[in-house]
Amino acid sequence: MSRNENIHVSLRFRPLNMREIDENESNIWQVNKNSVVLKQEMAQVFQESKKLTGAPKCYNYNYCFTSKDSNLLVYETVAKRVVRASLDGYNGTIFAYGQTGSGKTYTMMGSEGADHEPLSKPIRKERRSVSPFRQMKPIPKDIPSPRQSKLELPKEKGIIIFALEDLFETVSVSNEKTYYLTCSYLEIYNEQVYDLISETGGFKNEILSVNEDPARGFYVKGLSEHVVGSIAEVLTFIEKGEANRKYAVTSMNHNSSRSHTIFRLNVTSVRVLDAQDEEESSITTESVLNFVDLAGSERVSNLQDTPMFSKPPSNKPPEGRRSSRMRSSNNLDTLLNEGKHINTSLFYLCQVINRLSEKNTAKNDMHIPYRNSNLTKILRSSLGGNSLTCIICTATPTLAQFEMTLSTLRFGGTARTITNRVEANIRNNKNAEILQAYQRDIDVLRQQIQLAQDNGKLKAEEMEAMQKQLEERILKLTHMILNKTSKEHSKQVYENVWSTVSGILNIDKRLIGESIGFRVEEKILKFDSKERMKMMNAIFKDKDKSIQNLTESKQFLIDSKVNLKNELKKAIDLSRQISDKAQKYRQKFDKEKALRKYLDMKLNILEHQEGVEKFPLCKIEALEKFYLQAIDTVKELQVRMNYKQMQEISNISTKNHHKMWAMLGIEPIERTEESSSEEFIQTDASFYAARRNHEDTIDLSIDA
Ligand code: ADP
Ligand code: MG
Repeated sequence: MSRNENIHVSLRFRPLNMREIDENESNIWQVNKNSVVLKQEMAQVFQESKKLTGAPKCYNYNYCFTSKDSNLLVYETVAKRVVRASLDGYNGTIFAYGQTGSGKTYTMMGSEGADHEPLSKPIRKERRSVSPFRQMKPIPKDIPSPRQSKLELPKEKGIIIFALEDLFETVSVSNEKTYYLTCSYLEIYNEQVYDLISETGGFKNEILSVNEDPARGFYVKGLSEHVVGSIAEVLTFIEKGEANRKYAVTSMNHNSSRSHTIFRLNVTSVRVLDAQDEEESSITTESVLNFVDLAGSERVSNLQDTPMFSKPPSNKPPEGRRSSRMRSSNNLDTLLNEGKHINTSLFYLCQVINRLSEKNTAKNDMHIPYRNSNLTKILRSSLGGNSLTCIICTATPTLAQFEMTLSTLRFGGTARTITNRVEANIRNNKNAEILQAYQRDIDVLRQQIQLAQDNGKLKAEEMEAMQKQLEERILKLTHMILNKTSKEHSKQVYENVWSTVSGILNIDKRLIGESIGFRVEEKILKFDSKERMKMMNAIFKDKDKSIQNLTESKQFLIDSKVNLKNELKKAIDLSRQISDKAQKYRQKFDKEKALRKYLDMKLNILEHQEGVEKFPLCKIEALEKFYLQAIDTVKELQVRMNYKQMQEISNISTKNHHKMWAMLGIEPIERTEESSSEEFIQTDASFYAARRNHEDTIDLSIDA
């Protein structure tokens, strides 16, 4: 679903600088939320000097920022919606337009990137080509300057940094989509396009051409594209690019940039959908986000005054750049040449904008001169095309810059009327189609390479350079994969690695295609690196699955190991218990053995008097006593036995007497039988008691 969107235009005034304050300049503009108008007192002065008739004109914008507003507010108010939309597949372009020294670079890059207004007016006319990042090293604190406190502005990030923070934050928390970002950085200087961050060594003055392709539209052939995974990585590229930028001295600002720069982010997102109709599919969105820092618009304003947008300046490119970009800086011709070409690009930019605005109102089929300059070719989709576009017009608020500011105000007013037809770049891919397209793509590439080789198109050194480049990338990639896979094999890691792989493949494909100079057919274009990405995604999924299996097996082994360990522990405990018991039994056995030995000895002593010699004297005496007593006992027993026999005999005789007396009829004399037996029992008990006592006193233990 496409929709018509007006280009959003905002206006931003910068604060007065030291020189302007010294020269007693003041802010002559009244800024309201959506409009800007000349201050009342200034309008009066103009009216009195007949420079103005009637009421001063009020210029309307989508938003107007005062000189006190921060870059963060600018980002949040006008740029954020464009940046955020890029994540959903909408192209976006953010321009900074304005005269030199009005704050374009400050807005885009922040205070670190902007040029610095000198303490006094510059007299030098030489050029400088110094990275603003290097140039902006803080002034040493130990060399105090009377103006230092006024010069040191608080460091402020530019909207590119805010955009990157926003993008990387969203990308890092996104669960359902996988994003990958690549960046490129180009400069248009004298109508010639340079890659500011090309990978091949340092900055080479290689001029790139802007080509047209039915599917891609205008594109810069050979522009390097770098996969970026963090803000730090992007900043490294920006710094590298800034170091290569061209700065020239102008009457307005001795560090003013004469070139147009475009910092570009390519945002791709992939969302894999659940299997539908037994076929897995994915949704891919692609968008291009441009941050454009234009060269100073001052020369254009002069042209605008002398018939505006009608007579283009000569846009014939110069004879070719000299080997060094730092040419003799005082050469007036060169300076004019530069000025002219800045005009050419900006002139056509203004003309394109003007025509587009006329087209909107007249609704006619007007020709738009995109092809007249490289800037308009490259920004074709941003103006009157498929892109959310936001132009930030920067201006100087002083009376001295009144004309320039007026020209900027007019430009913004015109641009506001243009409408773009925007639609998200979304594709739905099915696996089978992807595979077929992939196969077709490989076949055609192979054929083309073969053809090129046969025709000698692919020169040996080109091949060598390409191979070297690929080798470097593969090496870089291998390092990354090794670094990442040695850590946890989480899904996130694979996605990160994958993003990098696909990004590099994407660039390589383009590189190969371009360097062998064939035009990719339309049907082949249907399949591009994003589809490869889908394929690779499937491969990664497989790998992920086998890693998962391996991890499960590993876990099983670990569990078994733990179980075995526990079993072993139990067995050791059991064997310890058994050996403890055995020990106890052994001790008991030893004790029993000793007791037996002792009893044997005791028996021997008692039976055969063997071993008596081992006894101490006291024990022998005790033994002797015992024996004597035993003999006594035996004798006593003998006596008793005799007595018992006698008694039995006596009993028998008594019985016989009784019988005899009974026969004779005589009463026998009664004798108390009980008492005598009683007496005997008594005697028996005392005997045994005495014997027991006696026995107790005898200790027969050998060691006593
Ligand atoms: P341009 O890129 O348009 O030529 P710069 O961005 O280099 O201009 O700005 C010129 C000077 O003005 C720099 O010193 C910069 O720090 C300062 N400047 C520009 N805009 C602002 C602002 N909004 N707040 C503070 N300083 C600013
Ligand atoms: Mg600048």
